[in-house]
Order: sequence, then C-alpha cells, then structure tokens
Amino acid sequence: MEKAQHSIERRIFVPQKSIFATMIDEIVTYNKAFVSSKGYEPFVTDKYPDKRLAVLSCMDTRLTELLPAALGLKNGDAKIIKNAGGLIMSPFDSAMRSLLVAVYELGVEEIMVVAHTQCGACHMSFSHFRHEMTARGITDETLDTIRQCGIDLDSWLEGFHDTEESVRNTVHIIQSHPLMPKEIIVRGFIIDSTTGELQEVVMKKIIR
Ligand SMILES: [Zn+2]
Repeated sequence: MEKAQHSIERRIFVPQKSIFATMIDEIVTYNKAFVSSKGYEPFVTDKYPDKRLAVLSCMDTRLTELLPAALGLKNGDAKIIKNAGGLIMSPFDSAMRSLLVAVYELGVEEIMVVAHTQCGACHMSFSHFRHEMTARGITDETLDTIRQCGIDLDSWLEGFHDTEESVRNTVHIIQSHPLMPKEIIVRGFIIDSTTGELQEVVMKKIIR
C-alpha cells in the first residue's frame, strides 16, 4: 500500500510535467474568470463566416492577432486554418479537407493563402529535426521503423525554400483540386510579419 502511494506521488511531482502544467493551469483559472464576467459577449456569432472567406495561414505567433487585425477580420468573419508554413502538403491533407468543409458546409466563396516573411517553416530541414529528436531520446530504430512504414520523413519535415513558390504551389493545389468548385476564388499573398502589409503573389502559368 505504501509503495503504491509512493509511486503515485512520484508521477505527480515529476518536475518537467509540473512546468508544462503551470501555464495551462493559469489559462484554466483565467478562463473561469473570463466566463463568469461574461467576457465572451463581444464575440458571440454563429458558425457561418459573414465574409464568406477562408484564410489559410501559418501558426506563427506573430500573426495571432496581427493577421486578423491587418485583414480587418473580426470574430465570425472568416474561417482561419493554420499550420506550420500555411501550406497544403498534399491534395488530401488536413488543410485541404478543412477548405473543402469551409466551401461545402459553411458557404465560403473566396480563399486567401497568406504566407508571411521570416517564416520558421522556410529552410526547415529534416537533418535539424533528426539532431533534436536524437537529443530527446528518439532512436534511429524508431526512425527506421517509420520509414519502413512508407513515411518519407525527409520530405514530410522539410520546409520550403522559396516563400513565393510555396504560395504558388498551394494556390495551384487548391485551384486545381478535383473536388474544388471552379467558381471559388483563390489568391495567394505574403504578409509582412511586423507591419502586416500584404503583398500579392503573382501566379505563373503552369507549363505541363
Ligand atoms: Zn510561419
């Protein structure tokens, strides 16, 4: 019995875990005050985007408030889909699925792809990931097993090297997707991570 109690205590007081829990605990406490003071009232809306717009962008923290502020978007205006780099990795990935849901289920008619300057996903490489993963205890055996399952880790964790080209590629995947209605407007941009200035990416003709 004593032994069992000891093991429970050890699990609870692992220092790393308590560090991670601290910020979330703070957020949970804040949330209770937010709800009880009706802080949500200015944000009340429904699930349909008032501007019939979807924005695919990067998860970068510089854009958390800057992106909607610079685009003049308020709560309820647009479906905002975010991932590392603000891109479509493959025609049937999660971001593409979200855009199709936005179009067919939520009435979206226009899509903006918004990459940004100094993006962390630019020049990302698997060799760097591999170094960090090894330092955190991921073994070569695990990496080999994943590869043997058909996952190409090198390209999955590889970043893009030209932001404009990455935007063009993502816009092209969306526009030419077999399930995307032809009348949907898709345009690509790069937003300045400091000033919020949008620069439109000119699409090139795709030569087949
Ligand atoms: Zn980014």
